[in-house]
Amino acid sequence: MRATATVPTTTPFVKKCAAASRSASSSVSFGRCVTRARRVGVRASDDDNDEESFDDGDGPTFVPRAPGVSDGPWAKADTRAVVESIRDADATARKVFQLTEEEPFNLLGLTAKELKEFAAGRGMPAFRGKQMADHLYAANGASARSVNDFTTLSKKLREELKNSNIRVGRSRRHHVAAAPDGTAKLLLRLDDDRVVETVGIPATENGKNRLTACVSSQVGCPMRCTFCATGKGGFARNLAPHEIVDQVLALEEYFGQRVSNVVFMGMGEPLLNVPNVLKAHEVLNKEIGIGARHITISTVGVRGSIEKLAQAQLQSVLAVSLHAPNQALRETIIPSAKVYPMEDLLQDCEQYFIATGRRVTFEYTLLGGVNDQPEHAKELGRLLYARNLASHVNLIPYNPVDDSDFKRPSRATVYAFRDVLEDLNVPASIRQTRGLEAAAACGQLRNAFQKDAIKGDLAPATA
Ligand code: SAH
Repeated sequence: MRATATVPTTTPFVKKCAAASRSASSSVSFGRCVTRARRVGVRASDDDNDEESFDDGDGPTFVPRAPGVSDGPWAKADTRAVVESIRDADATARKVFQLTEEEPFNLLGLTAKELKEFAAGRGMPAFRGKQMADHLYAANGASARSVNDFTTLSKKLREELKNSNIRVGRSRRHHVAAAPDGTAKLLLRLDDDRVVETVGIPATENGKNRLTACVSSQVGCPMRCTFCATGKGGFARNLAPHEIVDQVLALEEYFGQRVSNVVFMGMGEPLLNVPNVLKAHEVLNKEIGIGARHITISTVGVRGSIEKLAQAQLQSVLAVSLHAPNQALRETIIPSAKVYPMEDLLQDCEQYFIATGRRVTFEYTLLGGVNDQPEHAKELGRLLYARNLASHVNLIPYNPVDDSDFKRPSRATVYAFRDVLEDLNVPASIRQTRGLEAAAACGQLRNAFQKDAIKGDLAPATA
């Protein structure tokens, strides 16, 4: 089934830019719609208009926490960081459709329809846009890395695009960590030298080769979940659609195979970056052909955002990271639960089911001695069953993170937890830990890289 999710900014963009483009005298201009979008960093003060640029501190991958943010209960500084993150997402989404003189314009992340309008807006036949889409989203690593790879376009056209600062928008592969089980984690270096990770997990299912891409949605994350490697640092910025789609293409390139499933379970909180995640979702679905039901968006919960997904009639899997059977325990594991209590979160999950007909999946990271006891399983099972939310629980044994006090539960504990849930008629599965050797837990490899200066070979630069 195809996704019906669309990005609200699409139509205004096309109209606004096409109009601007018509009125522009230069044949190489798509339209000077809007002024340069803000590059929003971590705020230094309470003043919403007071902006501070990034201080890269220890190197290009280092993401400091926002001022005032520290371990412990959720505080005002955390809420400010979250609000900032949502604003940054909107600014990033607006920028996707703006051609300015100062900054390059990325074609990756636009749909074939938008590329046709882009082509038409520049005085080219619309089919040129379709040709660009074919190059951008070609299968198994054949996707274009640069405008030079648009071989069905004349050299003159390619030069024109390049001279107008229009480019593909691929990231550079910075480092690869491969595990013996076939899992590979790629560190991708973005245009501003920020680094994000993406993981490819190959598997065979009913004789078919599957490749799951675990993609990041943000550089850093402001949610601070206590056991999460990404949560140890701060939030830098949201990823733009091209930077999300690029992760899938980079994995296809690496594995030489089509990605069959996408899970938004890498770095960041996807529901703080809704417009760009939905846009990437649309492209993954329509242009790369990944079925909406094979795309999972995982969230720890952001007030108001599940509703947005419901409005978009998302036909993908919504996975909610619950990690505790009650509010008190959840707050100690997930500080942000304080401002979005479990009761509200579960009500929103029910509403999501009513609006979309799609049941919500729950994720539960088992932390040894903290939330993994039979009484926790009983409480969780009863809670989900009673609320008619007993869809599916994914149990994730904790994947150890450096400098963390949490422990991985024993195998017997994990199985016992699953059995209690199933006895209470709540279907549960245990997520196999894949690629532990590649430091597959969220943010871990990137954290390891923060300790060292950036080295490693860079794949060819994008143009
Ligand atoms: N922010 C989103 C998606 C990113 S993390 C979310 O919270 O859902 C994807 C999943 O991996 C989440 O369920 C998260 O809690 C879990 N996770 C993160 N670090 C982990 C670790 N070290 N061990 C086990 N699970 C982890």
